[in-house]
Amino acid sequence: MTLQEQPGNLFRRLPQVGELLADSRFVGLQQAYSRPLLISHVRAALQQLRAEVREGRHTESSLAAELDQLGENVARRLQQATRRSLRRVINATGVILQTNLGRAPLSAAAIAQIAETAAGYCNLEFDLEAGERSHRDAHVEKLLLDVVEARSRLPRQGLRPRAAAVVNNCAAACFLALNTLAEGAEVLVSRGELVEIGGGFRVPDILRKSGAVLREVGTTNRTRLADYQSALTPATRLILRVHRSNFRMEGFTERPTLDELCELGDRASVPVFEDQGTGCAVDLPTYGIGGESSWIGTLATGPALVACSGDKLFGGPQCGILVGDETLVSKIRSNPLFRVMRMDKLGYAALQATLLAYLNGMEDTVPAIAMLQASASEIRKRCGAIAEVLRSPELSVEVIETQSMIGGGTTPGASIPSFGLSLRHQSATEHVLAACLRGLDPPVITRTHGGSVLLDLRTVFARDDETLTRLLQDAVETLADATRGRPGDEV
Ligand SMILES: *Cc1c(COP(=O)(O)O)cnc(C)c1O
Repeated sequence: MTLQEQPGNLFRRLPQVGELLADSRFVGLQQAYSRPLLISHVRAALQQLRAEVREGRHTESSLAAELDQLGENVARRLQQATRRSLRRVINATGVILQTNLGRAPLSAAAIAQIAETAAGYCNLEFDLEAGERSHRDAHVEKLLLDVVEARSRLPRQGLRPRAAAVVNNCAAACFLALNTLAEGAEVLVSRGELVEIGGGFRVPDILRKSGAVLREVGTTNRTRLADYQSALTPATRLILRVHRSNFRMEGFTERPTLDELCELGDRASVPVFEDQGTGCAVDLPTYGIGGESSWIGTLATGPALVACSGDKLFGGPQCGILVGDETLVSKIRSNPLFRVMRMDKLGYAALQATLLAYLNGMEDTVPAIAMLQASASEIRKRCGAIAEVLRSPELSVEVIETQSMIGGGTTPGASIPSFGLSLRHQSATEHVLAACLRGLDPPVITRTHGGSVLLDLRTVFARDDETLTRLLQDAVETLADATRGRPGDEV
């Protein structure tokens, strides 16, 4: 260490914050970022250099090189600090409703309604005719009932007087229903339905927290109507039925039909509440998916109350939809907890637009439904076009048959025939390649299988095909840079 390189002397080479800000290298950054933010990151960069000098990690020339790079260093820090954490991704997993990826993408109409509602004021709780205060459910209640009527082919008069209410999600809807209708009283639930739906939603826990008393009925695999019957007491306030939306039971199993349960409920004057969950409002068998009830079909069977999610198969915003007997819904609405769980105006805007699509027979404008309907041969064509462009000595690209899933805790075991791209990189493992794809902008989320990375195009919007192709080419370049030992720009 020469005298010049004594820490004391090197410290003197470190510029003052004020000097740096006057430097031409920082002009661009001054324009892009606020002064306090810029100053704090210049300070942090200088502090780091000071610490490195203190630890004796610099010579005169290495410090000079760092100071040369200071503009880039600060720019990188600012970029990182202001990067959005929540970003769009390309979902190439083939799972239409992925809770981790935000479940249902919204329709163009729903997005337009959100934009318009968010940008200004709206009549969220204001009756324009009367010029008086109203309640927010007014915007969707009639639409919900109209959609139910139109799709169940049952005249509304044939049903009991119905009402609808909306809260933040289906878990909240279930909790609220149990708390309103059965706090301090007994709720009958089959042991086969004391399940975990996912994301910490466990039926027994929600029930206990709601203040209701769980009365288990039957066994895990078999519950008969007689089991419910013998469990009925004057303290029974509700029969809860949980839709098997995310699991399947096979073999020696039995449970009464919803019809039978509703009859029993009617005879005993105990309402039946079905947590239907999926919110499916289309006829899945026409898409080759069996064994899944629609939420509207369930309602037509006659339970007093049904709850479902807005952002699963319904394809709308995150919310919990409750439809049922007017007296029950109005009780739920006057529960103080209803206020705690109320949905925001943007949710109502999106839900209204989604309901209008169903009412008008335009559910194929709802992306989740369009993805469900997309034909395998159309998907195969798109795969072929991308594969054509993508094939290279480093990347083998095959178009293969695959199976898409609906997901989001719905239709367990059901799958839809689809096509995908199977990628193998000459030198990177499938895990390295998949990680590289996640590092792109926007990130591409894939599946890995038997040494390859698999991209199912059913869940990729056709409008993103070009972007996807370019991203995949970028990934191949990034990996080539990495293997050549050159740092890629984006790594
Ligand atoms: C998904 C699901 C829920 C939870 O719905 P969220 O909208 O995610 O809160 C509850 N019950 C059933 C049967 C479900 O499938």
